Amino acid sequence: MRAWRASLLWFDPDADHPQLHFERDGLLVAAPGADGVWRVQAIGPFEAVRPRWPQLPVQDASGRLIAPGFIDLHVHYPQTDLIGAPADGLLPWLERYTFPHEARFADPAHAEAVAAFFLDEMRRHGVTTALTFATSHPASVDALLRQAQARGLRWIAGKVLQDRHSPDGVRDETERSLLDTEALIARWHGRGRLGYAITPRFAPSCSDAQLRGAGELAARHPDVWIQSHVAENVDEVRWVRTLYPHDRSYLAVYERFGLLRRRAVYAHGIYLDDADRARLADSGAAIAVSPTSNLFLGSGFFDYAAARAAGVTLGLASDVGGGMSFNPFATMRAAYTVGRAAVRGDGAAKVGVSLAPEDLWWQHTAGAARALGLQGVVGSLAPGSEADFVVLDPQATPLLARRTAQAASLAEWLFAFIVLADERAVRDVHVAGAPALQHSSNVDAA
Ligand SMILES: [Zn+2]
Repeated sequence: MRAWRASLLWFDPDADHPQLHFERDGLLVAAPGADGVWRVQAIGPFEAVRPRWPQLPVQDASGRLIAPGFIDLHVHYPQTDLIGAPADGLLPWLERYTFPHEARFADPAHAEAVAAFFLDEMRRHGVTTALTFATSHPASVDALLRQAQARGLRWIAGKVLQDRHSPDGVRDETERSLLDTEALIARWHGRGRLGYAITPRFAPSCSDAQLRGAGELAARHPDVWIQSHVAENVDEVRWVRTLYPHDRSYLAVYERFGLLRRRAVYAHGIYLDDADRARLADSGAAIAVSPTSNLFLGSGFFDYAAARAAGVTLGLASDVGGGMSFNPFATMRAAYTVGRAAVRGDGAAKVGVSLAPEDLWWQHTAGAARALGLQGVVGSLAPGSEADFVVLDPQATPLLARRTAQAASLAEWLFAFIVLADERAVRDVHVAGAPALQHSSNVDAA
């Protein structure tokens, strides 16, 4: 059992909106379970929690903020090495950079090396759980989940399905791809903290037979996740309309094949209509809002007001390598920028909103956990949840120190933190499944 004294930020795990708790002088107590995973025993005011364990040594992190580890709802680990590759929009970007690069993951040694770097980089930025695309090569999933297991991380990944409109080297074969998926589910799903996601790349890259097979697997394995992309870019939406002229919308293609259900997470969702949003809300499927990617590729601006009005479950994602950063603060401030915009990207207007800082933070922690059906497990730090957490330093840079010191309210303090912080503010990252709750530190371990 261990205890940390610091300012504490945590969320109610079950609420469908941000229910923030903050304690300026707090105590967090965690202990390992029989499975070796550390869980929160208590969280609250120092004076209230301390008397329950008066003998327990306390690690003093006063002046710092302990918060839940961040959850990235959509990221491609094989694209780590192509962040910042410019192109004329999504489709040229896929063709020119992504597919040639992903073809290299046929080599398991390459996959293993990139997986190790990717996970260390995510953890260094305070991201302790992510829903992750591998490539179409099954060994790329093995590499990532093996490395995640070695680090004790709660991680979800899947082999990409793409049996058409894909070049040699990444295109898979329909029947083989479904057998490979089933074998990977058996090998990895529910093993320790790991999970599997059935991963059709996007509707244009999958034959009817492949989507049908994916839907059948999803029905047989209701606890396995589904991840894909929907309505990211106007050219992509137009292409889907020509490929599937009889479906009502892009999202309706996935629904027809049984791929709309709880634990299904679709990246982007910029070009949806009200009927699509109602189907998302009714089915329990979620949207992974990916603002730095949408800004980088010029895809458009997510309509928060419409999504919220329809009751769509959503959370935040980096979408590296379309996205520009692993830094969760960069994603949160981009989400604010995208929310403010009064246009969508195809000429349609939307209502600009100012997302509150606790909302942005929630979308990247407890809200994202809820989108994954992992509420109460990660993302909240409520008692009983797994003890993945970050220790943040408001003094990390001169400007961050100066600005946060002048904040007149908690909301102002959080907003300044979101706008000014990067990985230098992430002093420690504790991973609940790591041996002895080992932590990685960005600075000399003090
Ligand atoms: Zn993506």
